[in-house]
Amino acid sequence: MPELVDFRLDDVVELRKPHPCGGSTWTIYRLGADIGLQCVTCGHYVMLPRPTLERRLKRFAARGPEVVAEPEAEAGAGPA
Ligand SMILES: [Zn+2]
Repeated sequence: MPELVDFRLDDVVELRKPHPCGGSTWTIYRLGADIGLQCVTCGHYVMLPRPTLERRLKRFAARGPEVVAEPEAEAGAGPA
């Protein structure tokens, strides 16, 4: 079974293959079927399919805020 990497928004990841600009760290700005990355060094944006990013991932340089799954909020619930 493939291991699912817990990517988060605002994660800073270090990839095995450096960008042509010389930087190897990227910030995750979009999560989806494809994951959007911005090069920390030059600001270039790329989209990579998740499996490709998982293969290239070397380590997390910094983690974004943990996403806490909220229980289904009651519609229209406000301060009591
Ligand atoms: Zn770059």
